[in-house]
Amino acid sequence: MPVWKIAIDGPAASGKSTVARLVATRLGGFYVSTGDLYRAVSWVALERGLDVANDPAAVTALLATLDLRYGVAGPGRLQLYLNGEPVAPEPLRSAAVAAVVSLVARLPAVRAWLCDRQRDCCALGTVVMEGRDIGTVILPDAPFKFFLTASPEERARRRLAQPGEVPPGSTVASVAAQIAERDRIDSSRAVAPLRAAADAATLVTDGMTPEAIAEHIVRAVLAGGQP
Ligand code: C5P
Repeated sequence: MPVWKIAIDGPAASGKSTVARLVATRLGGFYVSTGDLYRAVSWVALERGLDVANDPAAVTALLATLDLRYGVAGPGRLQLYLNGEPVAPEPLRSAAVAAVVSLVARLPAVRAWLCDRQRDCCALGTVVMEGRDIGTVILPDAPFKFFLTASPEERARRRLAQPGEVPPGSTVASVAAQIAERDRIDSSRAVAPLRAAADAATLVTDGMTPEAIAEHIVRAVLAGGQP
């Protein structure tokens, strides 16, 4: 069985996670959500009452108390563990976490701390790793890199269709504004900003189903041959 390293980056709600999951299943590999690592740090920071927006030193100090890692939970399935306990997905998708995660992710100490945790996943075998800086910083040598994007309205509609992440009463316009703000912070930060790698294939996914996007990626990988 070939071992592939596939990087999928893109802005918020561009469909990366659904697509990456499908590609991992098709290729018999592990889907790795790197956003969940940033979300987990953000969630703990909120749980401990830290002022995430104004006290970066407290967030940095928090890291020393955390053991955050992915472990294999079944065939092709990873589970995130925090201090030995499995992390449930729901709190990570909450509106409260979505509101602060970009502020946590722009801290250089947080990014440095999470870097090896992401790279370590490659030891598992084929990985389809999804995030903002996978092709540029985390796996710059990945032979397959994709950058998924879609119009702000399409992304807002997709996000609105997902339960949990948007506050009650949200509209396409309000979700589009939230996504735009997250993209602004992610794209303008000093360290590892959201950006397509020079050697990434950019896919504009408006009007495409996740299955069609995944099929496109799988074909490209298989056509690329044995890495
Ligand atoms: O992909 P997801 O929406 O779960 O990512 C949540 C946030 O985590 C992003 O808006 C970004 O601030 C941060 N992130 C990042 N680098 C990554 C993955 C996520 O900065 N590789």
